[in-house]
Amino acid sequence: MIVVLKPEITRREEAAVLREIRKLGYRPHIMRGVERTVIGAIGDERKNQTLETLAAWPQVERVMPVQKRYKLVSREAHKANSVINVRGNFVGGRKIQVMAGPCSVESEKQLLATARAVKAVGATILRGGAFKPRTSPYAFQGLGEAGLRILAEVRDEVQLPVVTEVTDAADVAMVAEYADMLQIGTRNMQNFGLLQAVGATGKPVMLKRGLTATYEEWLMAAEYIAQRGNLDIVLCERGVRSFEPSIRNMLDVSAVPLVQHLSHLPLIVDPSHAAGRRDLVVPLARAGMAAGADGVMVDVHPNPETALCDGAQALVGDSLDELAEAVTTIPALLGRTSATHLAG
Ligand code: PEP
Ligand code: MN
Repeated sequence: MIVVLKPEITRREEAAVLREIRKLGYRPHIMRGVERTVIGAIGDERKNQTLETLAAWPQVERVMPVQKRYKLVSREAHKANSVINVRGNFVGGRKIQVMAGPCSVESEKQLLATARAVKAVGATILRGGAFKPRTSPYAFQGLGEAGLRILAEVRDEVQLPVVTEVTDAADVAMVAEYADMLQIGTRNMQNFGLLQAVGATGKPVMLKRGLTATYEEWLMAAEYIAQRGNLDIVLCERGVRSFEPSIRNMLDVSAVPLVQHLSHLPLIVDPSHAAGRRDLVVPLARAGMAAGADGVMVDVHPNPETALCDGAQALVGDSLDELAEAVTTIPALLGRTSATHLAG
């Protein structure tokens, strides 16, 4: 930590700060400039009490961390890329993972048709929401446990692992019984109790970026999961709130290389929830993969006109074929492969 003192303070006030730094378990190194004094406090922030309390002292101007505030998920802690095993599908390896399925599970017929269609175009993981975090309490909220049962049946039938969202810490154990990967949605990225609960299950977790979360906030949220002993975390960039009304959210393509630089965790993009409209989904999926994403997550529905949630962005027919082509051609440019590439 770096502690910057105010310019006008006396030696006696400075000594009080030094005493406090030692008391909190750090070794202070004092640097006296012409105008002001800066103290470098050496010590492990994970073991000692935080020095951030000094920011409230009248003689202190600023307290700045030197190390990253997230530890377990940082690239500093672990240089190699992490590869997360989701029932034999490795997210973060050479192969791009395609997670596809309906926004919400509506019926066994709907999910089965979708699962078959997405598997045929190279999807490796089936998505589908049983608990839907809807902006309106009057909108379809998902089938709950009945939806989870459908997911598990279709998984067995089609042989695709499933990822599904959990929105409440009280449901984590139940959702974990059915799911192969637990999804934390955008609106819950900073629901710390929920993060700790999914961390304790030991199941792979997909952590979506909050609507207005900085990279640091997102990685600090991942740190909550990791701190519970679960490092099987996949990050998902799904667009951030912007000022442009013609798209739902703005896919932050910079997040892909930048967050991969900051963290060893694999990172995928969800162009569907970013765009909110079908015509943009495949172009944004291409952009994400070209930037180095380890996979894509897309909404697919056999009859988008009747979808109970997010039909406007669901891929179907030709747009699904275009996705299949994108997940073959774009990763190949970067020396990566996809399931369709391997199959074809
Ligand atoms: C979803 O993937 O179903 C979803 C609700 O996404 P997000 O949390 O990114 O809005
Ligand atoms: Mn949705």
